[in-house]
Amino acid sequence: MYRRLIAPGALAASLLLAIPASAADFQPGASGIGDPYYPAYGNGGYDVSHYDLRLKYQPKTDQLEGTATILASSTQDLSRFNLDFGLTASEVRVNGKKAKFARSDVQELEVTPAAGLPKGTPFTVVVKYAGKPSDVKLWGFTSWQRTPDGGVAANEPEAAAWWFPANDHPLDKATYDVSIAVPDGTQAISNGTLQSQSSKLGWTRFNWRSAHPQATYLSTLAVGKFDITTDKTADGLPVINAYSKDLGANEGAAKASVERTTEVAEWLESVYGKYPFEALGGYVPNVPSSFALETQTRPFYSPKQFANGSNVSVVVHELAHQWYGDSVSVRGWKDIWINEGFARYAQWLWSEKEGEGTAQELADYTYAQHPADDAFWTVKPGDPGPENQFDAAVYDRGALAIQALRNKVGEKNFFAILKGWPQQHAYGNASVSDFIGYAEGVSGERLGGLFDTWLFEPSKPGASAARASADVVQPKSWKRIAATNGVHSER
Ligand SMILES: [Zn+2]
Repeated sequence: MYRRLIAPGALAASLLLAIPASAADFQPGASGIGDPYYPAYGNGGYDVSHYDLRLKYQPKTDQLEGTATILASSTQDLSRFNLDFGLTASEVRVNGKKAKFARSDVQELEVTPAAGLPKGTPFTVVVKYAGKPSDVKLWGFTSWQRTPDGGVAANEPEAAAWWFPANDHPLDKATYDVSIAVPDGTQAISNGTLQSQSSKLGWTRFNWRSAHPQATYLSTLAVGKFDITTDKTADGLPVINAYSKDLGANEGAAKASVERTTEVAEWLESVYGKYPFEALGGYVPNVPSSFALETQTRPFYSPKQFANGSNVSVVVHELAHQWYGDSVSVRGWKDIWINEGFARYAQWLWSEKEGEGTAQELADYTYAQHPADDAFWTVKPGDPGPENQFDAAVYDRGALAIQALRNKVGEKNFFAILKGWPQQHAYGNASVSDFIGYAEGVSGERLGGLFDTWLFEPSKPGASAARASADVVQPKSWKRIAATNGVHSER
């Protein structure tokens, strides 16, 4: 394993000249994975397959202690590599041996193993750490929300660095075991299935497992006092929902919405195909924020989503992401339309099914809301820029693009595309151009012009998706869908 690094002592000096050249092949991995929107996010030189996080959290003090064991494989001859992390590491080991480590830039933890890692080598990193996540400010903000009885990690595009070291970009998905001890009487919620739970000396340990590839920002942790409901779908998948015990007046509406998760997922299967994961659910912690997030298998909902009463539309949105965003993830953050356009369009389809306005009526109304000189039309959903990644145009104009596709290719092809795409790229990553190519393949139509008009032109398209009628009426579902507009727009 070390032959390229260590010179046999008996070698002649002339042969030794070859050694530095060979060792020089071992380079540090890049400090970013190569996303132009966020050059520092993720890292180069390795690929993670599994995170094993063994944690302990004290709600009173917001103190989090952890040991992260990361299974990875080198993708180059690697002399050093970075993890993205905000808490304080006390020890790092690579393949069991102590490694040097140092902080650099905002969130980079540079790890130098005792020996270089030849390309294609599976390796294990152990990071021991501790800290108060709410004290960690990266890029000027924290993704860790404190609640009266605990804390929550849920944010997009960045949340992981507040609670575990990671290759923090959707391009590097992995499976997870999250084991967390909290004081008795407190619960810990994460993704996937609860494998076991046990109590000892005043601490209760929850062992969660997420068994399908999962992006780092879709990994979530919530500690607090929750009412937990459990059930099974008709297919036998576990459904686990959790609600802070102190939701106050929002409690009823939150439960009346999130308890419909199974029903919504069943309907989504008729549109997007078989549900891609091993568990379902949702959780509503008592956080001050107002957004929701499609954390894998178990979306996060702020209580404010339910301040005006129940809102099944936001559940439709976050569950639609399980296919469009979670199973099929963005290749780069510029591809956000393949997440948000389709999550919004699912809300339109739900409205259509409920008889509260068809997708076409919602498209007409959306189109009519924005005059040609509205800045709305200057945002390109197909490449909005990091500053507009979660702009309303990515959602609404993004959904208009999908209605334009429907009108162009017809019902049969359209619904074949909607159902086929999550199969085509299941558990992987894909781009906007991959989607255009896929839709062309299924429909046999040339669609470059249509998508250019709706996703890439910085101006109001002619009314081919929407009827340019002067008397468009507000669909019944409009306000409830509009109420979910802030779903990802807030840190
Ligand atoms: Zn969304």
